[in-house]
Amino acid sequence: MELREAMRACLRCPALVRTRACVVPGDGAARATVAFVGIAPGRFGGDRTGVPFSGDRSGDLLRRMIRESGLRRVFITNLVRCNPRDELGRNRDPRGDEIANCRDYLTAELAIVRPRIVACLGRMAWRELAGKSAPFDPRNPIPVAARSLVLYPMFHPGYAIRGAYSERLYRGDFVRLASLAASAGGR
Ligand code: SF4
Repeated sequence: MELREAMRACLRCPALVRTRACVVPGDGAARATVAFVGIAPGRFGGDRTGVPFSGDRSGDLLRRMIRESGLRRVFITNLVRCNPRDELGRNRDPRGDEIANCRDYLTAELAIVRPRIVACLGRMAWRELAGKSAPFDPRNPIPVAARSLVLYPMFHPGYAIRGAYSERLYRGDFVRLASLAASAGGR
């Protein structure tokens, strides 16, 4: 597929090109009801496996929540497709220019899978897609309509992994998302 080949050959972000193990395109259903957008591949997860949200605790939790909620046609991706690291080799947040560099890949992925709902995992993904003025409150989510889809705020699974949000509440958020997906005509 041309898009994936273009991503895998991408050299737009010099700092990420230097340290990435691989480029991590989005992954999932060819036609998705829900697309999940995280921040970046993790160094112990997607950067190792080549698949977003896989191989680490965040990925395991996200995929379990999806499975248990009954969501089926999902697509999973990130704001950026390469793992950002700090000078000590730890995960860092992507910079604004790196997110901007990768934006057209995200737009192209979403245009292909055509989700009805884009679930933004964490405040950074939400701000990038819904805008700074849209309130980020996954406990009382206020979806934002954007052209043919709905943007939906959720906590990043890493937030629950760190113990800042209970797994029970997180599971409830996914059940609520699955209900919204069902009312939008699919799961
Ligand atoms: S993060 Fe995106 S834009 Fe930057 S090098 Fe990787 S694929 Fe290219």
